[in-house]
Amino acid sequence: MTDHAVTAAEPALAAPVLAGRTVLLLDRARIYACGITPYDVTHLGHAATFVWVDALGRVLRLLGVEPEVCRNVTDVDDVLDAAASRASAPYDSFAAIQQYHFEHDLAALNVRPVRHEPRAHRYVGHVVRLAAGLIAAGAAYERNGSVYFRGQAAVDQAGLDRAEALRLSAEYGGRPDDRSKDDPLDTAVWQSAETGHPSWDSPWGPGRPGWHAECVAMAMSAFGVGVDFHAGGSDLRFPHHAYHCAMAEAFTGVRPYARAWLHVGTVMVDGVKMAKSAGNLVLVSDLLARHGAAAIRLMILGRRWAQDWEYTDASLEAAEARLADLYQAVGRAHAAGQAAAGEVRRLMAADLDVPGALEVATGEGGAAARLLIATLGLD
Ligand SMILES: [Zn+2]
Repeated sequence: MTDHAVTAAEPALAAPVLAGRTVLLLDRARIYACGITPYDVTHLGHAATFVWVDALGRVLRLLGVEPEVCRNVTDVDDVLDAAASRASAPYDSFAAIQQYHFEHDLAALNVRPVRHEPRAHRYVGHVVRLAAGLIAAGAAYERNGSVYFRGQAAVDQAGLDRAEALRLSAEYGGRPDDRSKDDPLDTAVWQSAETGHPSWDSPWGPGRPGWHAECVAMAMSAFGVGVDFHAGGSDLRFPHHAYHCAMAEAFTGVRPYARAWLHVGTVMVDGVKMAKSAGNLVLVSDLLARHGAAAIRLMILGRRWAQDWEYTDASLEAAEARLADLYQAVGRAHAAGQAAAGEVRRLMAADLDVPGALEVATGEGGAAARLLIATLGLD
């Protein structure tokens, strides 16, 4: 439970707009962020998503709303299993060590601690219950010890054509060539046991939870039938978020599952998405060794959140220069200071318009600059 009380002095209307959706809020907001799969060190691409989630939370607080963030840890995952096996370590202790480094990096980036941090391996029973419920609702079926969710609804909702959906499904581990399924676009809520992966008992025999189902179980356990905001990298839009949404709605009958989505833009290096497989990772710990956290945050946040962007050394230097201008502006008190601070607040609530707010804060200085520094966590 939250102890946040709305006071008469707070703005009467808390109505942030995200991607064109106005989200009216009372005293708190439920934010689910798809967290890390703890199989490797934190890179800038991951960190960017969680810095934006942190910024959303700070903007909500500015509006007098208490953000309640749930950021899960996907420690039951096929990629993680492979990494743990290469390191000759049990999957859970391997994941716990990676999670420790991740949290250390995020704290160093001034990302506030989250309210809920569920780890998938503790929610296996929830996934079993979810799978049974989806079967009961007619949205899933059992086949050869696995339970598959009928995927067509998710594809329709995402507005994708079949070929594109199949391509993305294959890319993100959806196994469209699994012949047990009625339709290649169906996805495992429960996957029957396989060598090289952990397994648990279920009414359908031993197996493990599917990726999308894990997030559904954790989100629902933290927040009930739905969330105010669901956040993640834009590459999670399909299949992960589309299937999450479709499973949650099929289980609860409550639509929409999420009132608004924060799909954070992708970080690129030389035109290629930052990823371990591309061999172009920029590690947060390396950046922090040479630059302040505030400059790294401003490099991430000094743009529209949905925009893909290119990391270069110059982008960090540019952020350092913008930060110096903003700090200097604090000492400049204009007569319009309070009105300018109000404008910063308005711009941040309007789709987290950091570039607009930065221009006002740096130009007007004083209270507006102080407000933006606090709201972006640049202090
Ligand atoms: Zn997720």
